Amino acid sequence: MTVEIPRLMAMVDEAADEVVRLTQDLVRIPTVNFGTPESGDEMAAAEFLRDRLVEHGIEATIYAASDNRGNFVARLGEGNGPRLLFMSHTDVVPVEDPDQWTYPPFSGEIAEGRIWGRGASDMKGTVAAQAMALIILKRAGVRLNGTLTFAACADEEAGGAYGFGWMVRHHPDVLRADYAVNEGGGGPVRSRGRIIYPIATGEKGRLEVHIRIRGRGWHASQPWRADNAIYKAEEVIRRIRAWRPEVSVRAEIFQHLDTLAGISEPVTDQTIDHVLSQLEGRDPTLASMLRAASRMTLVATMIQAGVKSNSVAEACTIVCDVRSLPWQDVAYVWRQVADILAGLDGVSFEIIETAVSNSSPYDSPFRAHVEAATRDAVGLDDLTFVPALSVGFTDSRFVRPLGNVTYGFIPSAPTDDPSRSGAHNINESVGIDSVITATKFHVALACRVLAGAS
Ligand SMILES: [Zn+2]
Repeated sequence: MTVEIPRLMAMVDEAADEVVRLTQDLVRIPTVNFGTPESGDEMAAAEFLRDRLVEHGIEATIYAASDNRGNFVARLGEGNGPRLLFMSHTDVVPVEDPDQWTYPPFSGEIAEGRIWGRGASDMKGTVAAQAMALIILKRAGVRLNGTLTFAACADEEAGGAYGFGWMVRHHPDVLRADYAVNEGGGGPVRSRGRIIYPIATGEKGRLEVHIRIRGRGWHASQPWRADNAIYKAEEVIRRIRAWRPEVSVRAEIFQHLDTLAGISEPVTDQTIDHVLSQLEGRDPTLASMLRAASRMTLVATMIQAGVKSNSVAEACTIVCDVRSLPWQDVAYVWRQVADILAGLDGVSFEIIETAVSNSSPYDSPFRAHVEAATRDAVGLDDLTFVPALSVGFTDSRFVRPLGNVTYGFIPSAPTDDPSRSGAHNINESVGIDSVITATKFHVALACRVLAGAS
């Protein structure tokens, strides 16, 4: 059976207005996640998607984590072939001051070749692209041998407890797949005349360390009778700042520095910092990302002490944000913190893991499909791909333990300027050419994985 990918790519171009309208409609549904159970309202987006897909004869289900937190799942295909999962999230971060926006944040207005509004780039443009990909495949009558699942879930912006986290706990079989794609990578980098697409194979974990420093309070008029917890915190802070993380070039991206930055000599754990300090002047963004990919970070982000200005503080709490590498588990982080605080009197700590770190192999048959589908979508053969480690976390971490080879990879158009996305910022927008490219990518990927196209 042969599937003509060029014909399908042309069908996406013909449906460009539909994809744009779908993105606009989704942006106009204010699924704002404040991190509270009653916010989010992703059910409205789930019902909208269900109505649209069912209208095209596609099987769709809503899995409700609660009345207002809807997780949308659609399916295509039959037979015993592979299982492919398209992942996205329907919630968005809040808007702080709408007056600072050029176009109203929930308007979905079109200007400058872009669709404007909160969530346009993170990630309703992708939700629309994935939905449209299923519609096109159905419309074209492509026979998929295997299962294509499209899951647009809730609550990503607050950690996923009502979204992919909830789905994996309650309906793991719905999400179990051989391969999955999600946000986290796919913005092309231009280096020395080449277009390079990073594929995020893994992501760092996130933990919080709560350090409690206990002193002895006293009336502030006789401070010598107290053991000031704020002063005791000074040594804790000094040690946190003096801590040097273990440096490692184990992440696969470090084998591709030649492609990324023209660094041809192999780097080692010992040489990487020197290499990065030289890269800093040429490409500070890349240097900073590589720095984050080569070590755990631990930084104090909150401090709280005392209850009254005329009482010496009895206690002080310092909260640190930790981002760990895929092979650094809670026990590893625990040892680091225990070392930092060793021998300090009245100091204890607790670690809360908010996102586990994990990764999928770059060396997988999926990679060839992803690369080929990107060439189909972009319409260029001369593209370069490199593995990347995402330094923030995504919902991918929930599905990797199910056995899904999951890549953070939604390619945007090489013509799009990534600095204009405004994700989590004012004036968020997505390039129309990127939404079209993403739609083509998902269509081509499904054909390559499930319809034997090559
Ligand atoms: Zn996102």
